[in-house]
Amino acid sequence: MAPPEPAEQRQVLLDERTRTLALIESLTARLSEVVEASADEASDDEHDPEGTTLAVERGQLVAQLARSRVRVEEIDAALERLGRGAYGVCQTCGTPIDPERLEVLPAARQCVRCAMHGGSTRW
Ligand SMILES: [Zn+2]
Repeated sequence: MAPPEPAEQRQVLLDERTRTLALIESLTARLSEVVEASADEASDDEHDPEGTTLAVERGQLVAQLARSRVRVEEIDAALERLGRGAYGVCQTCGTPIDPERLEVLPAARQCVRCAMHGGSTRW
């Protein structure tokens, strides 16, 4: 499989960025609903299991939002690398990243080898 054209790759990243931003928007909307609902719950004296469910959902939404924001940053970084012709090259070892990996993870910074061993202790 031939490596994708930079223009195509840019489009893939931009699409991914748009999708992620839309996701952030819907997560943010849902989060404010949950926050509002939990505020209502808190004003009730009765202990309600609903409150716990909302707290759990709130935690999940916050975590998902944090991940999505990191994703946008990664996509921006990938677009920046694309702009200076450094896209698709492993930032750790400098070898080209497998195009199939880039198809799955367009914002990948590292080749499979480094991603698997990166951050782990030396053997
Ligand atoms: Zn590498």
